[in-house]
Amino acid sequence: MAVPKRKMSRSNTRARRSQWKTTAANLTSCPSCKADKLAHTACPSCGAYNGRQYAEALRTVNEL
Ligand SMILES: [Zn+2]
Repeated sequence: MAVPKRKMSRSNTRARRSQWKTTAANLTSCPSCKADKLAHTACPSCGAYNGRQYAEALRTVNEL
């Protein structure tokens, strides 16, 4: 059976795929409607992004 030739570094041990964890998404509040939204995306409830309105977000809201 194959045996590792060298000791694995602490860095490589800690970077092993089994140590990969997910982190919670960063939520910010919309400046126009104060709802929670993902950073750097249009607001899902009002469609505002950087002072503009986005029709696709508005259509999604109208379907609900
Ligand atoms: Zn909003």
